[in-house]
Formats: sequence, C-alpha cells, structure tokens
Amino acid sequence: MESPSGKPNLFGLDRAALSQVVAGLGEPAYRAEQIYLWLYRRRVRTVAEMTDLAKGLREALAAAYDLRWPEVVERRHSRDGTVKYLFRLDDGATIESVYIPEDRRRTICISTQAGCPLKCAFCLTGISGYKRNLKPWEILGQVATVMAEAPPEPKAWNVVVMGMGEPLLNYESTVIALRALMDPDGFAVAPKKLTLSTVGILPALEKLMQEPVRPNLAISLHAPTKALRRELMPIEERYDIQDVIAAAQRYPIPHGGAVTYEYVLLGGVNDQPTHARALVRLLAGAHGKVNLIPLNPAPEIPFAPPSPEAIDEFCRILSEARITVSVRRPRGQDILAACGQLHLKRGEVPVPAPVAS
Ligand code: SAH
Repeated sequence: MESPSGKPNLFGLDRAALSQVVAGLGEPAYRAEQIYLWLYRRRVRTVAEMTDLAKGLREALAAAYDLRWPEVVERRHSRDGTVKYLFRLDDGATIESVYIPEDRRRTICISTQAGCPLKCAFCLTGISGYKRNLKPWEILGQVATVMAEAPPEPKAWNVVVMGMGEPLLNYESTVIALRALMDPDGFAVAPKKLTLSTVGILPALEKLMQEPVRPNLAISLHAPTKALRRELMPIEERYDIQDVIAAAQRYPIPHGGAVTYEYVLLGGVNDQPTHARALVRLLAGAHGKVNLIPLNPAPEIPFAPPSPEAIDEFCRILSEARITVSVRRPRGQDILAACGQLHLKRGEVPVPAPVAS
C-alpha cells in the first residue's frame, strides 16, 4: 500500500523502528526518544514543530518521511454528544472510530481492522465484510485525532478497542499501538482505562498475557453454551468457549480488576431465563463481571432487541447468583455509532430508533 508521497510514515513507529531511522540519518541514538515524545506525547502534526531537533535534522527527516494521521472524511454528531469519525485510508478503505462523552470521563472506541472476518451473526461489521488489518499508525491515528479535536476538559480518557475488527487477529499492529497508548511517555492512558475486547483468539491472548503492561480484557461471550455460541459466532468452531474463559481467568487484569464478559442480548434467542441460568453455570467459579449489551438493531441484522422485561429478568438471575452485572446503554445509536453498528460502506443505512434517554 503506497502512501500518496511514497514516503514512509514516522507516526506509528515504535522506539526500535525510530532508532533505525535516526541511525540511518547518522544521528545519535537519543534522537529517537526525542522524536518519540513529539509523536506520541505532544502529538505534533509536522516535523518542523520538533523544536529540540537541529534544523538540519528536521529537514532530513521531512525529506525522507511523512508525518501523517489518517484522513477524516466525515464526522457525524449524535444528539447524545457522541461523534462518529469516518477515516479514509490510503488504499480507499474506510474505518470508523467513536468519541463518547460521559459525565465524569470520555471514551474513544477504535478499530483495528477495516471490516472484520469473523462474521458474528448480529454484528454489522461482520455482515459487511473484511478488507484488511490496520497498521499501527492507522490505529494510533484514530486516538490522536479524536483527542486533538475533543474539548479541553479535565476528564480522564478511556480507550476501548471495540470498534471494527478483531484486535487479536491483528496482533502485531495492535500491540505496538497498545504500548504507545499505555506508555507514560506516550499517550499515557492508564492500563486500567484501556480495554481490549476479543472473541478469544487463544494464541494471541496467550501472547498478550506475556506483555509487561497489559490493558483490561473484555471477552465477547454472547451465548452460554457451545451449541448456541457456534450458531451466533463461527469462531466458536476454532476456539472453544470453555477454553476462552479458562484463558481469560489467567489473564492478569490491571490493579486486580476483573475480566468483563460481554453478552449481547438478542430478543428470544439468548435472553431467556434458561440462558441466564446456563450463563451462571458457565461462569461458576470464574472471577469476572458481565456486561449485557441489548442488541443495537440495523435493517441488515436478523435479530430483534430484547424486551425491557427480559433484560431485567436476566440481570436479576445473574445478580442472585452474585455475579456483578451491568447493562450497556447505547450511545450514538441515531448515527449508527453504537456497538455492532460500525460498517464498511458509507451512507445508505436508514436511521433507526431514537436514543433512549
Ligand atoms: N472483535 C472484538 C472487538 C469488537 S467489540 C469482539 O468481538 O469483542 C464489539 C462489541 O460489540 C462486541 O462485544 C460485540 O459482540 C458487540 N456487538 C456486535 N454487534 C452488536 C450489536 N448489533 N448490538 C450490540 N452489540 C454488538
């Protein structure tokens, strides 16, 4: 994939790669750290702004390298304050990110792939197909762009890797991005404020556990039994639900927190009391909390949201079994920015139901 200028991008390079850049220009090694701070801590948009580098070095850098974030082609504002960003990448692929303001914090939801190969039956990203893995600069550039445009407020940033794609199918790029995000000399997002959501790609999950600094973990469960999960999520054939939970239980959560088990509630399909009781049995002995996500509907998704009564009853059964449970409130539904509503093509999709207040 050629950049418009044909030059490689400095943004997205890790310390090792920046060391090679400065060595290639015949510069001392400490220059790599200076450039790193400009890229990820101060997040300047041009090499010219890297004022502690000699002018000659800045010129040499700018001659050989780009400094680019992905191009924003559309911002859609929800009436609840959520903003959905559409980025167009060099090869024409489009990806989405979401800015979600809340009372005491704000959250950025980022994508790791253009589209998604997993084909979960209820998710619009899977329904619209898979294009490719994102590069580290394309992942980090989403965060940099949203942070740069957000109002200057003293609210902590949360980042959730819950946008388009399966992060653990793009392990190499995702982990480079995670390191820069959590680095106190980089974006400085606290590990406990960064959450990676995955269906449970086991080999990659094992690798992530070996990282010296790890984000929070959310596991996309969505069904209490293998038989039902297989119908909803083809990946179940490859990575068994029990094995995924066993691996998640060994995952070292920052500050002794608990794994989140995400469960999309599909009306009449997986939201009945029998499912709740089966989920209690599945999670017996596990240390974790359950986040119920009422389906965010779209015309292409062949499921209906759960009734409010079904949600209440499901919660009650889990709570009675002493499982910590929360219900995710949809954000940005009116602009198709809510979970599972991010998808490859622009436009076309009619606006669904208004946001619950
Ligand atoms: N591939 C990863 C990262 C994407 S996370 C994963 O699956 O975990 C996206 C989250 O939104 C997941 O929990 C996903 O299951 C959920 N989701 C997908 N489609 C949805 C929909 N239509 N309504 C509500 N949540 C949905």
